Amino acid sequence: MTASVLVVDDMEPNRRLLQAKLEAKYYTVFMAADGPHALESALRHEPDIILLDVMMPGMDGDEVCRRLKASAATRHIPVVMLTALTDRDDRLRGLEAGADDFLSKPVDDFGLFARLEALMRYNMVSNELRTRDSAGAREEHFSDFEQESLDKPASVLVIDQNNSEARRVAKSLEAVGHQAATWMDAQASSIRFDEIDIVIIALSDQNHDALKLCAHLRALKEARDFSMIVTCSVADQPKGVEALRIGASDLILTPLDMLELQARVRTQTRRKRFVDILRRRVDRGLELSVIDHLTGLYNRRYMLERLQLWMQRSAVNEKPVSIVAFDIDHFKKVNDRYGHEAGDLVLRNFAARLRTNIRPQDIACRPGGEEFLLIMPDTREELAEVGAERIREAIAAEPFLIERDDEYIKVTVSAGIATYNGEEGLLADFLHAADQALYRAKQNGRNRIETMAA
Ligand code: GH3
Ligand code: MG
Ligand code: MG
Repeated sequence: MTASVLVVDDMEPNRRLLQAKLEAKYYTVFMAADGPHALESALRHEPDIILLDVMMPGMDGDEVCRRLKASAATRHIPVVMLTALTDRDDRLRGLEAGADDFLSKPVDDFGLFARLEALMRYNMVSNELRTRDSAGAREEHFSDFEQESLDKPASVLVIDQNNSEARRVAKSLEAVGHQAATWMDAQASSIRFDEIDIVIIALSDQNHDALKLCAHLRALKEARDFSMIVTCSVADQPKGVEALRIGASDLILTPLDMLELQARVRTQTRRKRFVDILRRRVDRGLELSVIDHLTGLYNRRYMLERLQLWMQRSAVNEKPVSIVAFDIDHFKKVNDRYGHEAGDLVLRNFAARLRTNIRPQDIACRPGGEEFLLIMPDTREELAEVGAERIREAIAAEPFLIERDDEYIKVTVSAGIATYNGEEGLLADFLHAADQALYRAKQNGRNRIETMAA
């Protein structure tokens, strides 16, 4: 399994050491020496996993993690925090910041690779689903309903032969709103595995072979979707690592810290829900597709849906939303002269250039033909103008290469901007305003931008 790992540590020797270990196992390694570079690298390389040092000058690991998890572009990447051994406060702060896992420094190989493998398994499922769900599902594309489901309480089954310890665990989870049952409770009321989100299994001091139980649970058909968290003492850590191999998704050392347990259950729940949502969406199939197949931009349906949403938000929070309607100039001539296929290539390259010249929060759509529309949330007219101008320039600056014929095609684009400030008004009026401005741009000579107000 080849995977890429971003190593973030301010100390060069630490970075080199991890790099050597990881590359020896054929991981691809990216490195960053501070928070800002880590964020940049995460965005650029989209690594499969991020190993993040907590203690760094400037922006510390918690802050980096918080920002990674706050951005729709990076929040799906698992973050493993590297903390000083047994620093409980560090760990709790990290979990609050959204970290997915921890490793103590100095990092031992056993723990490192077991955890990476467990995270890679999760990644494999979610990446596979993300690929099949052509929306490239990220939380920002989740419906409100889906978004809410991420934080709904979990149904947890606690398996520990020490029944009073099992009850203590169940109680502390119920205290934060989850439903929790011990194995004894569950047997009293016949248990349904398909309703369980998380199973917590104690590995230490058990009469039965707890590892066999893990393997058995993993193999249950109806159980494929729950997450398994194992607990064990330091002395039993090798067992714990084995459990991660078999398919446990997290390992917590005993004696249990209930705050850490609650935080980890929350992380696992969100992760499982994330996969559930993706799976449901894939099941619903292509009908829900929101991507334009030629260009990879959002299609008209998604554009209308998002625009409606941003208009509503804008009416509530009084922040403007701007749209830029683009239309390629004399595109018919491109088709007439070079053929429809070349025309398609130009559209594709146009979309690529558009995409590289927008901000992460902007939503680039192709409603149809040679028309494109950019939604710019929280953006007033003057700023939208700057953005649109940058795109117009990027298009006009260099001709498009049609590789088949080694031919260069010069393309320009015109655009019209409209801004919505939360006043009364319909979606159709808003789009119409941008179209009117676009019409004026064409009238006034093309390869230019006009605004609604002008
Ligand atoms: P203007 O500067 O006024 O916008 O001129 P124009 O030629 O770009 O405008 P017009 O709307 O007359 O022509 C648009 C052309 O775009 C016509 C149509 O054949 C072509 N077109 C629309 N969709 C596609 C497509 O998916 N692929 C290709 N190759 N051409 C397309
Ligand atoms: Mg047109
Ligand atoms: Mg045109």
